[in-house]
Amino acid sequence: MIAEQYRKMLDAKSVIRQLSEKATKRAQIIGAENVFDYSLGNPSVPAPAEFKQALLDLIEKEDPMTLHGYSPTLGIPSVKTAIAESLNCRFDMNYGPEPDTISYLLKQGATIAEAAIAHALRAVTVPGDEVLTFAPFFPEYHPYVDLTGAVLKVVPADTKSFQINFEAFEEMLGPRVAAVLVNTPNNPSGAVYSAETLTKLAEVLTRKAEQYGHDIFLISDEPYREIVFDGKQQPYVSKFYANTISCYSFSKALSLPGERIGYLAVNPACPYAAEIVNMCGQISRGIGHNCPTSLMQLAVSKVLDLTSDFSVYEKNRNLLYECLTDCGFEVVKPEGTFYIFPKAPEADAAAFCQKALQYDLVLVPADSFGCPGYFRMAYCIDTEKVERSLPVLRKMMKEIYG
Ligand code: PLP
Repeated sequence: MIAEQYRKMLDAKSVIRQLSEKATKRAQIIGAENVFDYSLGNPSVPAPAEFKQALLDLIEKEDPMTLHGYSPTLGIPSVKTAIAESLNCRFDMNYGPEPDTISYLLKQGATIAEAAIAHALRAVTVPGDEVLTFAPFFPEYHPYVDLTGAVLKVVPADTKSFQINFEAFEEMLGPRVAAVLVNTPNNPSGAVYSAETLTKLAEVLTRKAEQYGHDIFLISDEPYREIVFDGKQQPYVSKFYANTISCYSFSKALSLPGERIGYLAVNPACPYAAEIVNMCGQISRGIGHNCPTSLMQLAVSKVLDLTSDFSVYEKNRNLLYECLTDCGFEVVKPEGTFYIFPKAPEADAAAFCQKALQYDLVLVPADSFGCPGYFRMAYCIDTEKVERSLPVLRKMMKEIYG
């Protein structure tokens, strides 16, 4: 017998991936330059030059037995120390350097954040527990949570700001909730949770944990942590709540999605920090996720405080925001990431996105993001292409919606 649990997932494939595949096929027919593909969150700016240099230096100078040998399960100690130092310095934290204290490197071979989130979920939930997240949310949270046996519940969006809808949150935060999964800067809304939002979130979690007499963990998915515009910064989520597990990926801010590298860090003030970290090592064993590549760990450890140049994303954000508002779309200006999240001009966003495809505009309907009626544009593409897409968007709006 084959596993029904996974067979069912065949009917729930990623809409983003399906649209991206459609765009690639269309590009083979009419040329990539003529397809305005806003589907996939694949960074379009290169990693900083220092990353390439770090790789070259390592290959040239490092002992090949270290470079290509097995990493310890929880990551190379010197790399973890470098990560802890970087986080402590940038966010005024006090992560310890040792594997059995707090921070720990993960993954390989599967979605980075998925690996961290899947580990975190397995460490702090048991089957039947509830995990809350906030709409709009990254659709992959469903498989991450579903496969642990916990149940994902989605708090409806606050569409005015895409900060947290606290009224709905408090209502849904019942005694079965073991963990809350947040993502800021947010995919797909581009919202950056403010210090005020995070303070309130921590206050609610603390109060409810006390009321129910058990811990409620905060799992913070932060692959876009550094991609914030207008000179602003994302407040460090873990700073606000002790029982926080931060899941970080180098995919977006360093433009390294193909390298599948990132880490998980438990706030040292969490009473179970060391235990959770070490349990994650055992979870890795159990799901065959052991030993992240040594070369990539060592290479990223040399560029922890650097990022790609995000000026292209900021420029694209400005161009799109201006055009969309001018066309009459209801849209909150994104403060970070490389996504914008307008309301569709008709209730059925999927139908709208289908019509957009006739103009070779590839837009993603937000039903699977828990926010029907909206759509996402991933503007991690060349500015020149964004500029050429704007008259097409205007033409479509005029022709279809008058
Ligand atoms: N979480 C969010 C919110 C994302 O947008 C993504 C990727 O787009 C991921 C997790 C997965 O990141 P990675 O590919 O680095 O594992």
